[in-house]
Amino acid sequence: MFNLLLNRRSNITSQYKQTLQKINQISNDMQSWPDIQLQQQTHKLKKYLKDGKSLNNILPEAFATVKETCRRIKGLTMFNVQILGGIILHEGNITEMKTGEGKTLVATLPAYLNALKNQGVHIITVNDYLAKRDSEWVYPIYNFLNISVGLVEQNMSTELKKFNYQQDITYITNSEVGFDYLRDNMAINQNQIVQKDFNFCIIDEVDSILIDEARTPLIISGPSYVATDKYKKSYLLSTKLKETKDYNIDEKAKNITLTDEGIIFCEKFLEIDNIYQIQDPWAQYILNALKAQNLFIKDRHYIVKDNEVIIVDEFTGRIMQGRRWSDGLHQAIEAKENVQIQNENHTLASITYQHFFLLYSKLSGMTGTASTEAQEFEKIYNINVKEVPTNKICIRQDLPDLVYKREYDKWIAIANECYDMYQIGRPVLVGTTNVEKSELLAKLLNEYDIPYNLLNAKPENVKKEAEIIAQAGQSNTITISTNMAGRGTDIILGGNPKEMSKLIIVKTIQKPNKDFKNNNDTYKDLHIEIQSLIKNMISELNQNQFFEKLKDQTISSYVEKALNVREESNNIDIILQNTYKNILNIYTNIFEEDKNKVIKLGGLHVIGTERHESRRIDNQLRGRAGRQGDPGSSRFFLSLEDNLLRIFGGDKIINIMESLNIDDQTPIESKILSNSLNNAQKKVELHYYDIRKQLFDYDEVLNSQRQAIYAERKRILKSQYIRDCIIEYGESTIDEILSFYFNNTKDRSANHILINDIKQKINTILNLPPEIDNKCIRNMEIEEIRLFLYEQFRITYDMREAYLDQLRPGLVRQLEKYYLLQQIDKAWQEHLEKMAYLRESIGWRSYGQQDPLTEYKNEAFSLFINMITYIRETVSYLIMRSRLVMDPQNIKM
Ligand code: ADP
Ligand code: MG
Repeated sequence: MFNLLLNRRSNITSQYKQTLQKINQISNDMQSWPDIQLQQQTHKLKKYLKDGKSLNNILPEAFATVKETCRRIKGLTMFNVQILGGIILHEGNITEMKTGEGKTLVATLPAYLNALKNQGVHIITVNDYLAKRDSEWVYPIYNFLNISVGLVEQNMSTELKKFNYQQDITYITNSEVGFDYLRDNMAINQNQIVQKDFNFCIIDEVDSILIDEARTPLIISGPSYVATDKYKKSYLLSTKLKETKDYNIDEKAKNITLTDEGIIFCEKFLEIDNIYQIQDPWAQYILNALKAQNLFIKDRHYIVKDNEVIIVDEFTGRIMQGRRWSDGLHQAIEAKENVQIQNENHTLASITYQHFFLLYSKLSGMTGTASTEAQEFEKIYNINVKEVPTNKICIRQDLPDLVYKREYDKWIAIANECYDMYQIGRPVLVGTTNVEKSELLAKLLNEYDIPYNLLNAKPENVKKEAEIIAQAGQSNTITISTNMAGRGTDIILGGNPKEMSKLIIVKTIQKPNKDFKNNNDTYKDLHIEIQSLIKNMISELNQNQFFEKLKDQTISSYVEKALNVREESNNIDIILQNTYKNILNIYTNIFEEDKNKVIKLGGLHVIGTERHESRRIDNQLRGRAGRQGDPGSSRFFLSLEDNLLRIFGGDKIINIMESLNIDDQTPIESKILSNSLNNAQKKVELHYYDIRKQLFDYDEVLNSQRQAIYAERKRILKSQYIRDCIIEYGESTIDEILSFYFNNTKDRSANHILINDIKQKINTILNLPPEIDNKCIRNMEIEEIRLFLYEQFRITYDMREAYLDQLRPGLVRQLEKYYLLQQIDKAWQEHLEKMAYLRESIGWRSYGQQDPLTEYKNEAFSLFINMITYIRETVSYLIMRSRLVMDPQNIKM
């Protein structure tokens, strides 16, 4: 194991050895440079690029520039492994670097280099908190080098978003960047578009985004009719049905089927002949109600907040605000929870993360855990995972799993372990799979009367996650956390003095004076010296009229900025900086002492309470301990009643346990079981991989169509002169009609009947003058007819144009754009619905030997062609008859 690690270390390091040496040498030379010279690097490097050098040519100098800037501004010297990570990112790979190795800084290296091209760089994080925290933390480095930094947040105005997207480097969350893309492609006016190019992106916590979140596509939906009664009635009905008699549950596939008896019962209850009737179908509603009842559990799969059902991500334990389950399932759960049933999803636009991120010319990512999913990254995203060794060798002890027969005994054992650790003072982090289980453990610990911090997916706790995680390494601290709550924040043994000092300042400013006078809880536990520092700060800030100028919600960023200013500090900045420095000194001493104590005790102890659906998630949890060469340990407690073993384990494990004939309280160390366990886990990984792969394959069809539609839309939006496009649409409509009528006849000249048909059709759609002479075209060949009709169309169009121009100058151009976009959007939305229906129904049909995906592709193609034809026809129709259709005064552009 050790050898393997060293080998890997030397492999990857030797591959980049020369570049690394060069970077370090240049940055060493730069140490003697004055600031101004270092700052001119950006200009100089951009010039190199203009003169024809490539990014790779200038990589060593650019990286050295960032390294030296970081040393000056942040006082941190980047480790070789960090620089290595940066090179790997620049090459468009995934850098696997463990938690606490300093990936936030790693990203600055390739971000700076790629920003020199002036095409933008996106740094993607999993939540708003991290986007803000990371951008603020590295801002001084970029700022020093004259590189602008943007931060895009939810609910920002269009103007502000646009501004931030235009910066050299933009920090943003995965969902916001995806939704902005969809919204941009629904814009009916060019100034509503906020995004620029998709040049280079670095995805932080890349596995969470490209694997976990990739199971659900991003969807923008609008309201449509909702059958509230049906959901309610189905829910009532579902409570009367009995498992196995009326229905069966397939937990693995998350599916439910009705038995014949169940179907008869439903039909009687609803007083209908057939629950599958086409006109007014019920089956879907009943099945959803049963799923809501049996497979979706409150506080595990979803929470209810403010009368709303909100999805909880099974893997991460995070709530997924705004996401909804599709096909009526969400409504069924709303009926079950007796909250307001919201409108059905009517999809206006959608994209999967898989296809969204493939839009970037170069994609890269970083995380602590990617290698178990390396294959998927390669197959779907065409991106390689490269492991970077840790800066210091990891000495964490991963203890063998303990397996109990019953879940109950497992939890008692976990609580006991927490108790023991608390007694000796060692910090413990317990990872649970859901809120319900976190609370169960919390109750047990209450009985033992030991304190703990609880982090879970509930919104009121989410804000505090990072703060609590940052201090989870202090002695005598127990932290219970659903899966990856607080992801992105590393646990420092003894506590994180910087975070703590900052927090105290922010909290004080948020509630000045009043708490102080009352000397209430917030401050009474504080170190006496810190109390007086804070008092001083407040009175000094008061003297500078600070509080009158400040708005509440900006305090934390205000403080963050003030602490990072190097030059041009104003009075207030200086007060804050000094207080911070002094508090930091005190905490650093206190925490240093505690750190030594915790290290002696063995570092952070991580407890897993269940194997997760993928080894990667288990590794994430384990990786919380043993950062930067710290001591630490991890242990998983399992039981035969755990989901993984119950659903995917099979009988083998139970047989082993039975044959060992041990009592309930005695666990077995699972060396014997580990094979079966690993197999079960691999089955689950594969299962979820299949789901994602299927989503990807099916979305691929839609994706090429989406690209085509979005490209057409963009062309129209950008175009100043759309007349050509309308003419083109009209001509294709003529082609379409001609080929329809001439396809079935060998006679290339038109006969009488044909001519009448064509004329009528063309007249309906294109509004050509009725006096087109029958005789004239009767003897023509098809090509001649085509040209003749083209010409007629142009003439008629010119006349329409003149007419509309006379109504209001410029009107025709506005109408053109408006009709085009409106029709494209409408047709596309209808198309999306048809595609969703097709996708669903393709599973039901049987095709003999035919592969459903192939069938789906074929049908999707003809649906698409129909849509395009339809768009062209309607646009031509509307333009040629616009007077009848709308009042020109009311066009909103
Ligand atoms: P990761 O994202 O890899 O888990 P972070 O970027 O959050 O790690 O950094 C973890 C901590 O390590 C931060 O507090 C950061 O200040 C610190 N750090 C990063 N790089 C260095 C360095 N070269 N020297 C010292 N400390 C560093
Ligand atoms: Mg990080």
